Amino acid sequence: MTGKGERRLPRTIAIDGPSASGKSSVGYLVAERLGYLFLDTGATYRALTWLALQRGVHLEDEEGLVRLAAQVDMNLGPPAAGSSERCTIWVDGDDLTGVLRQPDVERGVSLVSRVSQVRRAMVAVQRRLASRRRVVMAGRDVGTVVLPNADLKIYLDASVEERARRRHEELAALGRPFTQNDVRQQILRRDAIDSGREDSPLKAAEDAIVVSTDGLNQEQVVEKIVALMEGKS
Ligand code: C5P
Repeated sequence: MTGKGERRLPRTIAIDGPSASGKSSVGYLVAERLGYLFLDTGATYRALTWLALQRGVHLEDEEGLVRLAAQVDMNLGPPAAGSSERCTIWVDGDDLTGVLRQPDVERGVSLVSRVSQVRRAMVAVQRRLASRRRVVMAGRDVGTVVLPNADLKIYLDASVEERARRRHEELAALGRPFTQNDVRQQILRRDAIDSGREDSPLKAAEDAIVVSTDGLNQEQVVEKIVALMEGKS
């Protein structure tokens, strides 16, 4: 029971936004601060893309992708100590976290995630994981499709220049030799596919609070979301 004066914090937080808007970093920090589980839905699409490439399923072969999505057993959990990822993902018991940012996965993932039946399978996985405890879940359609009854919905946005700058920094730290302009082009291409697809396009839920992160650092965005959770903003 909640005592007099105590606030009941939202149990499920959806954070959506375009590539490199900061939703995973910020979502993870919010979850860590409050003892919630952080779930990155992008990891499920990335892992499936890697598996398709490994098994020789062409990324335009929708039936092949759907068959693969129906067979796999996916699990998400907290990151391993020292990991630069915000989640660990296991597929059929194998830890696939290390392959999620490979360039061929980066290039192919939006082709996989636009297939409706693939999405249905991934959404089922994501909902099952979210039903277990208090969660912060990040993605493109969490507030609109995966958890339409989430207690708090945030839509994080930032200009493409700012997002390209941030992603370029992350990739440079991993030793990936892209120019900032390459990264900008990749982001624009993924935005176009993610926003233009028919099924569950990237968009803010009607009841989402839009937070623009241009000019804010990570800590300021985290503070803003925690304040929203506590009903102070
Ligand atoms: O968030 P992240 O960049 O890891 O997502 C990778 C891709 O997975 C996105 O570009 C999008 O195509 C897909 N995705 C999605 N729906 C989600 C999360 C990710 O379609 N909820």
